[in-house]
Amino acid sequence: MRLGDAEGPVAVVLVAAGSGARLGAGAPKAFVLLRGQSLLTRALGTAAECPHISTAVIVAPSSHLAEAAAAASAAGVRADLEVIVVPGGAHRGDSVSAGLRSLTKRPTVVLVHDVARALAPASLFTAVIEAVRAGHPAVVPGLPVVDTIKQVDVTGRVVATPDRSALRAIQTPQGFTGELLLGVHETSAESDPVTDDAALVERLGTPVHVIPGDGRALKITTPEDLVLAETLLERSRA
Ligand code: C5P
Repeated sequence: MRLGDAEGPVAVVLVAAGSGARLGAGAPKAFVLLRGQSLLTRALGTAAECPHISTAVIVAPSSHLAEAAAAASAAGVRADLEVIVVPGGAHRGDSVSAGLRSLTKRPTVVLVHDVARALAPASLFTAVIEAVRAGHPAVVPGLPVVDTIKQVDVTGRVVATPDRSALRAIQTPQGFTGELLLGVHETSAESDPVTDDAALVERLGTPVHVIPGDGRALKITTPEDLVLAETLLERSRA
């Protein structure tokens, strides 16, 4: 069976309401240009390449709603993709909740994607959707960790060195059944400091499945990441 035909609607929430202070670009990160196109335009354009996705919600800074709508137009997405723009909240989780609340119908599958991971390829979106369709209620892409990770206390003293082979660096898009993600966000506290959606699901004891991540889905956070992203773009064009 082809994905997206008979298996219910898929929505993606693109979170883009962060300030991007660490990038130091003087504008919210989603509007920073990468080879002439904003991170938001690139992320939306890639999501729209997945025929399974019928709705894209852009969660933007409340000060930049018009710019978000313009960035969406610049992506030139297919006419049958519903695009919704809403203001975000103080924390990432609040922004995801705002995006989910704007959905007019409950999707069968919902993805949450950091616009900061603007080069995540369409194949990664598809792999996440397929894994949810295959029966995993929560799916995250992850890469093996190359650095040795140490846990430290407030004084900077090392308190533990976890076994690296058991660690994964988790990316987005993360995928969930609509029922699960809308349910956890309806009951989670406002301004919960979790840094991804899977963490809310883990608290319920619901299994979260990890699939192979993709190096192109790096989170563009610092000026160095922007240089790396430009290099990746050049390589993909060559
Ligand atoms: O801050 P962090 O790098 O973890 O942000 C990850 C993603 O969440 C980014 O795409 C950012 O725009 C988004 N975000 C948001 N609302 C916030 C904070 C972050 O949409 N209040």
